[in-house]
Amino acid sequence: MDTKEALKSFELDARLFYDAIAFSTDDYLYIIDMQRDIALVSDNMRDDFDLPDSLVPGLIPLWRELIVERDRKRFDDSIDSMLSGETDYHDLEYQVKNALGESIWVMCRGLLKRDENGQPTMFAGVVTCLERKGKIDSVTGLFTHDECMNLIDRLIACESQGGVMLLGLDDFSRINLLNGHAFGNTVLRMFAQSTQRLIPEGASMFRLDGDVFAIVMDGAGCAAMEELYHAIHVVANRQHTIDDLSFFCMVSAGIAMIGQDAQSAQDLLRNAENALEESKQRGKNTSTFFSSATIATKLRRLEISDYMQSSVLDDMKNFELYYQPLVCAETMDIAGAEALLRWNSEEHGQLSPVEFIPVLESYGLIGQVGRWVLERSFTQCKRWSETHPGFIMDVNISYLQLLDADFVPFVEQLVERTGVDPASIVLEMTESYFVTDMDALRATFDRLRSIGIRIAMDDFGTGYSSLGLLAQSPADIVKIDRLFIKDIHREAFNRAFIDAVIELCHSVGIEVTVEGVEEPTELDAVRAIGADSIQGFFVSCPIPAHSFEERFITPQTAS
Ligand code: C2E
Ligand code: CA
Ligand code: CA
Repeated sequence: MDTKEALKSFELDARLFYDAIAFSTDDYLYIIDMQRDIALVSDNMRDDFDLPDSLVPGLIPLWRELIVERDRKRFDDSIDSMLSGETDYHDLEYQVKNALGESIWVMCRGLLKRDENGQPTMFAGVVTCLERKGKIDSVTGLFTHDECMNLIDRLIACESQGGVMLLGLDDFSRINLLNGHAFGNTVLRMFAQSTQRLIPEGASMFRLDGDVFAIVMDGAGCAAMEELYHAIHVVANRQHTIDDLSFFCMVSAGIAMIGQDAQSAQDLLRNAENALEESKQRGKNTSTFFSSATIATKLRRLEISDYMQSSVLDDMKNFELYYQPLVCAETMDIAGAEALLRWNSEEHGQLSPVEFIPVLESYGLIGQVGRWVLERSFTQCKRWSETHPGFIMDVNISYLQLLDADFVPFVEQLVERTGVDPASIVLEMTESYFVTDMDALRATFDRLRSIGIRIAMDDFGTGYSSLGLLAQSPADIVKIDRLFIKDIHREAFNRAFIDAVIELCHSVGIEVTVEGVEEPTELDAVRAIGADSIQGFFVSCPIPAHSFEERFITPQTAS
């Protein structure tokens, strides 16, 4: 028996077929008996468009009335071309008014059947709501924001307990800017797929927008939410590769609990969002549970952003550079200073850069403030090198500054304008930039180095700590974070770590500075293992320029 024969012998139960389709789809179904002019519409179509019944006489003119005026002519043309025998199908997108009076976009498709005289007998098809098709996000394959809200509302309505976790990829905009949009989309999809594999039964994942995802976990308590974040964190923190480009894709989370932190999906998501923002503030790659303190933190941040904006507008008022000495480990002679930004006002007191630098970054002010820091510190370096030849100035640079195409030309001009020796300047960048963005940043680093400026990898050991990375890194100097110096005389691991870093760096010609030396015991240990320079409260904390000049620059006169 061939396929055609087989199909003929297959008893098609039309009613079953219709019911099965109506049951399995969200689309609207219609079948019109063209001779009697009576239509059978699916229940959802009857309800959503307020049609009088499931059996509707004169459906086509009735439906036409619901179509927005602008689209009616196209609808008429399509129907006419079927009735005139030109075509046997209808395939059109238009807007139609639903029972709520909203105009919604639909796609309407149908097939016309004729008798032997060519007269239309049956016309049947499907109307698809195009917005509903947006249930799924095409980039990640996850359900969208609305679906997330619906689920949370349902859980709240039936008084379920559970948790909502918002996940935000850390520095995704950087990945996107540096490697392009298509690459960014692949990263999002990869993250969505790998995270979905980690979520337990009863949990669902959604893409809210941009680089923010949500996981809703019915019945979960705080411990289960924390455990889930931990699992996601471990996978995200591995090195990933797409198209031969390797990158890290760290993730922060904000968690709010259903039945506890809000009465509506909207409020719950907002609270989780505030908690996520706090995780980002606390240095990223971490999770935070929503609490009333979250709101206070957010308000504080808004307050700081106000101070920052006013100061920048008021010619950098309240900003000041402090300087912390760098000394040669062998001789303990002064070698230079690190410029550290301060903000101080009579009215509001002093703020830590740990608090205000991220605000400057997220409010787009870091470029302007960063240029001011460069200008001040270069000028200071030039001045101090007159009495102290070879004086080194370390300046901290934020990654957003590096993304600015004008950054290198600005530095070049500044070297010219201030007359500073570029060999005296060290630009410090946090360890993470050397890992996540090396491919994109190498050209910038090379250009800076070609004018004689040196590059330091700051806070080594706090993030990625790959010793293998050091050997190929374009850094001239590595600064080991205080984390490893603390208790160095007691902690064998820390001592072995610094020892290994120094040996490896020296073997490829990289200098090592040890930061945060506070105690004489720490100093002795660090000097014994061969660090090149030392920085820390033991020598001095950061101080204003005039104090620095008094203590470290002005030649001491014997009294
Ligand atoms: P950093 O670059 O790691 O700077 C060293 C920080 O360690 C400074 O904190 C300094 O006061 C502190 N420190 C120095 N010696 C010791 C010590 O012996 N013990 C301890 N416990 N701490 C020590 P500070 O000035 O609060 O700066 C914090 C961070 O803010 C800096 O960390 C840097 O990442 C950022 N920052 C400061 N100024 C600037 C700037 O002009 N631009 C940018 N982008 N970031 C800046
Ligand atoms: Ca630094
Ligand atoms: Ca540091």
